[in-house]
Amino acid sequence: MLKGKTALVTGSTSGIGLGIAKALARQGVNIVLNGFGDVDSPRAEVLAAGESAGAQVAYHGADMSRVADIEDMMKYSASQFGRVDILVNNAGIQHVANVEDFPVERWDSVIAINLTSAFHTSRLALPAMKSANWGRIINVASVHGLVGSAQKSAYVAAKHGIVGLTKVTALENATTGVTCNAICPGWVLTPLVQKQVDAKAVEHGLSNEDAKKLLLGEKEPSMQFTTPEELGELAVFFCSPAANNVRGVAWNMDGGWAAQ
Ligand code: NAD
Repeated sequence: MLKGKTALVTGSTSGIGLGIAKALARQGVNIVLNGFGDVDSPRAEVLAAGESAGAQVAYHGADMSRVADIEDMMKYSASQFGRVDILVNNAGIQHVANVEDFPVERWDSVIAINLTSAFHTSRLALPAMKSANWGRIINVASVHGLVGSAQKSAYVAAKHGIVGLTKVTALENATTGVTCNAICPGWVLTPLVQKQVDAKAVEHGLSNEDAKKLLLGEKEPSMQFTTPEELGELAVFFCSPAANNVRGVAWNMDGGWAAQ
């Protein structure tokens, strides 16, 4: 069904992006990876996931806070595989501080990477998707695109923003084969969240396991982390024909967090 299509997954060298890249590769989708840090092991993981389905893997190291890098990555993706059929806007960072203490440069980085980058990739991917009358834009927002939490002003603003961008992109393309939807995870145990677990462990003098329980207990009724594999399967569903008329939703996978 998706075999031979191409997905660009931003921030896919780690965590949720890597999980989504692997799930799409298993369907035979060619993947353009992006992100910082070690590239060899994520590339090998995605290649292994897509091997039997014949998926190919490329990589571009664009810094998602830089427009010129993003433009170059979009050109590179088209040159590797023809065009981007599936765009997963996933790259994201977090910073935790009260508004009055929030470092200005951290605010700017969170908004640039978590929100503005999705505008740039979307505006550059949409023309080819519209010409082909098929495309999928999946924005990895967060439960923080639906509700707030103290000390996360930039992140919550960016995630509410990307839910808004999702709705508008979906509406502008509603009569075409191009859909845009958002995924809103609760806690997922990735490096981004492990930092917050570590901070809780230090603050309260707890073990890693007890700090995880405290973190989950504050917000997530299921007391379970959502996994990158589960989120990958949701992304595959958004790409399937069954989701042809799913447009502009913000779909939480949050253990009941936003239901409270
Ligand atoms: P992570 O830290 O494991 O991965 C983040 C990825 O983004 C990495 O590949 C990193 O290299 C990349 N990245 C960071 N800055 C970048 C930049 N300037 N340019 C290019 N790549 C960059 O984090 P994660 O938890 O997998 O988060 C992925 C997305 O999911 C983020 O948008 C995050 O807000 C969202 N999210 C995470 C959780 C969670 O609990 N972990 C919950 C809800 C939403």
